[in-house]
Amino acid sequence: MAKVTEVAENIYMIDAQLYSIPGFGSVYFLDEDKKALVDTGPATSSGVVLEGIKQIGRRPEDVAYLIVTHIHLDHAGGAGTLLKSMPEAQIIAHYRAVRYVINPERLISSVIEAQGEEAMTRNGAVIPVDEHRVKPAHDGDTIRLGDRQLLTLLETPGHAPHELCIHESRHHGIFTGDAVADHITGTDISVPVTPPPSFDLELYIDSLNKLLKLNASRLYFAHFGVSDKVEEQIKRAISELRIRDEIIARAAGDNSIDKAAAMVIDHICEVLQPVKQEMKALYDYLVAVDIPTSAQEHVRYYRKKQHL
Ligand SMILES: [Zn+2]
Repeated sequence: MAKVTEVAENIYMIDAQLYSIPGFGSVYFLDEDKKALVDTGPATSSGVVLEGIKQIGRRPEDVAYLIVTHIHLDHAGGAGTLLKSMPEAQIIAHYRAVRYVINPERLISSVIEAQGEEAMTRNGAVIPVDEHRVKPAHDGDTIRLGDRQLLTLLETPGHAPHELCIHESRHHGIFTGDAVADHITGTDISVPVTPPPSFDLELYIDSLNKLLKLNASRLYFAHFGVSDKVEEQIKRAISELRIRDEIIARAAGDNSIDKAAAMVIDHICEVLQPVKQEMKALYDYLVAVDIPTSAQEHVRYYRKKQHL
């Protein structure tokens, strides 16, 4: 059984059981005249996503749009696999991401470079998508799903240069992808993720300020769950990014930038300490993969910016 929650009228959250971890990755199903998915999960989640759609009482064949917030494999790796069950569906991706959806080879090699070969076992096959099934998205583009549901795509780079957030008009909510943070469901804890190869602190904070200005009523996190503490969550992400940057700047000032990544890792682990036991599988994954890569990438960005 897939775990499906109706998080708002006509919006369902399917737990993608990302990397077999419950409460880590979600795919949202928008049940309007035209059906849409926000993100797809990786190919290893495709079975559970299809099951979730059926549990909602809908058919994968009726999905019109797969809107991917960005093309990191945990968000969009399964797009090509899902399309096989969704003959009518079109993929909507940031215009800078379209070429990687059509030809994922470079994307795959960059994932292997950052996370090792085992990343591809975790994510599964990334099937190239025919060009005619991918539509490039630009900032401000809209998609009408029904009388009361108009989606607006927002360019929100920083976590990745090809990141989109999606505003939905029915509840004035935002699907955040990874533009805000990893939110630990059931808590107020959240940690921004700053993965290689193209994290950009300034763009990230600009994007967060852009989201703040929308005064949205709720955030639908990709990782994970829904929060109505919109301002608090966005401001926390900004302050958390700044704290990390200050840790690195201090280390650089002490001539110990080589230790900066370890110091950032310690800091993030401390933030997550309250959920270490109850979310053990998630915590262990973050400590093994996302946190070290985030810390190293932030240090790389700092060095590049400061010409160190
Ligand atoms: Zn991502």
